[in-house]
Amino acid sequence: MEKTGGSKFILIFSLLSVLLIFSICIIIDNIFYPRITLFKDDIVINLNSEYNEPGYKASYKGKDITDNVIVTGNINPTKLGVYKLNYSIIEDSKSKKVTRKVYVKDLTKPKLKLFDNGDIYICPDQEFITSKYKAYDNIDKDITDKVKVIKKGAFVTYSVMDSSFNKTEITKRIHYKDIEGPNIKLESDDNSYILVNSNYNDKYTTVDNCTKNVKTKVSGKVDTTTPGEYKIKYTAIDEYKNKTTREKKITVFEKGQNGTVYLTFDDGPNIGTTDKILDILKEEKIKATFFVTNRGPDYLIKREYDEGHTVGLHTATHDYSYVYSSVENYFKDLESVHDRVYRITGYDTRIIRFPGGSDNTISRRYKLGIMSELTKEVINRGYKYYDWNILSGDAGETTESSVVYQMVTQKLSKDRVNIVLMHDIKPYTRDALRDIIKYGKANGYIFDSLDINNEMLTHRVNN
Ligand SMILES: [Zn+2]
Repeated sequence: MEKTGGSKFILIFSLLSVLLIFSICIIIDNIFYPRITLFKDDIVINLNSEYNEPGYKASYKGKDITDNVIVTGNINPTKLGVYKLNYSIIEDSKSKKVTRKVYVKDLTKPKLKLFDNGDIYICPDQEFITSKYKAYDNIDKDITDKVKVIKKGAFVTYSVMDSSFNKTEITKRIHYKDIEGPNIKLESDDNSYILVNSNYNDKYTTVDNCTKNVKTKVSGKVDTTTPGEYKIKYTAIDEYKNKTTREKKITVFEKGQNGTVYLTFDDGPNIGTTDKILDILKEEKIKATFFVTNRGPDYLIKREYDEGHTVGLHTATHDYSYVYSSVENYFKDLESVHDRVYRITGYDTRIIRFPGGSDNTISRRYKLGIMSELTKEVINRGYKYYDWNILSGDAGETTESSVVYQMVTQKLSKDRVNIVLMHDIKPYTRDALRDIIKYGKANGYIFDSLDINNEMLTHRVNN
């Protein structure tokens, strides 16, 4: 017992002595050595963010010597890692150094994008299907394959974690309910035009997101024997009582009735303009007339014909000095382009437009009276020719599509037919076309193509 008590005393005494010596050391250090205090210890900053020095203080023998501290070490905030900043000072040949660690870490959460907005609606009796998603991280880049989808009751959670354990989570509510009506698809436009006494088929299909059981009601009738405007209303209801309605306007018109617009394109075909014009006409579901020459590729003439437009003749060469030098030369030239169209389409086209129009005066240079002869002779040979009553300005007046648009739309009239002179070799005409058609449709005009049944529109002959 005695012996044990003595050992205990010695142990406690030793510990106290060590503590005392240690304390004395600290006191000596504080009094006789310079001292540096950092306002914050180690620091973590996000990658690519700025390091802000939190500050420090230095003192020696009760004097502030902060200004004498030398800071060394570098931090690269664009690179992950641990960086050291050293704060050192020497006073009276006594030095002191402290170190701060700066951790540059990735603290940015990955981005998780779901392609469904709001709550998720699943058709009744159907299995839950995960939404489409994409995950992207600033460091790991595409981490879509790391996305976890967990479904719990009426909720689904999409989560993703990057390699630095930053996590992003999105939770959505699932409803087993159909809230969408059927989609009614029409084969034609909502606004379509048909020639009187032609066939009208109101073909439509309905597709529902959830059910095949769709009831469709069609109301309204089209009398194709009487020109006028007709409306047809489609109503589709799915099994869950979601309803969709769609209304369609059908205009039954007579060939050449007032308010009809005949867009006519001369001088083509031409790659880069004619093809684009054909695309627009197709998208807008309207027909036009092309007075072609021998330029451009055959396939564009084939497209014009196959897509339901009228292919008329403008002359092969468009060379005034040749075609207006004699009746014989004119017909030789016309035959050449006629044969080209016939070879490509198999169609014997009989409608023409004179280069410069039937009222041109340039032909006087080559043969006096030639237009008087030609305008009679073309009719003798079974052709009809069409001049115009609206200039689009693309024959030299302008090179701006906005002006082409203005010139055409300002002259359209409901009190006559409108034959618009345009050139499908001009990019600004191509660029104005869609808006011209939209304007015409919005204002109740009918678009049609010329054919041999159209009454001729002719200018006064000047030569
Ligand atoms: Zn021309």
